[in-house]
Formats: sequence, C-alpha cells, structure tokens
Amino acid sequence: MKPFVKHGYGDDLMMCCPQCGYTNIHPIGVSVLRGTDETTVTSANIMVKEAKNNGRGVQIAMEYACENGHHGYIIFNFCKGETLINHQILQSYDTLDFETIWRD
Ligand SMILES: [Zn+2]
Repeated sequence: MKPFVKHGYGDDLMMCCPQCGYTNIHPIGVSVLRGTDETTVTSANIMVKEAKNNGRGVQIAMEYACENGHHGYIIFNFCKGETLINHQILQSYDTLDFETIWRD
C-alpha cells in the first residue's frame, strides 16, 4: 500500500488514493465490525448484520472510490493497544458510477 495521506490545507491532511496517489477520492461506504455485529453506512442506507470476526478488537473499514477508477477498502484493525492499517483492492470502476456518502 502506498501512503494515502498528503498535506492538505493549513494543518489538515488530505487522504489520497493508496493505488495512484490522486486526491479525488470518495468515501462510498463505512463498516464497523464489533464482535459479530457489523454496521455498514452507504449513501443508500444503514445496515446492521451478523458477520464473521477473526479479530478481538474493533475493525473499521472505509470503502473508497478514486476518480481514476481505483476502488478498495482501507481497514483499521485494533488489537492489543495498536491499530493496524490494511488495504484491500476491489474491482476498478470504468466510470464515475459510484455513490458517495453525502450529508443529505
Ligand atoms: Zn487511484
């Protein structure tokens, strides 16, 4: 995984695509797995379901879509006082046909 954070505006950092470094990257889903309860938020809805969990701590996954077509998960796994960050590549988009999470 390439670094996915760059300097942004002022003191802010800016997330960038872990596959190409482009800064136009959209959050299209967020999942929190605690125990065997997984809550997923997308632009369409909020879902809670039972899911398999191989870890002890919480897992937080952000599904992203890059405007260069890249798609994947950035996954935070908390375990024994540390938070590990993993990356999973998903099938690329051919178009900008994805649903960004907005406030409305
Ligand atoms: Zn990209």
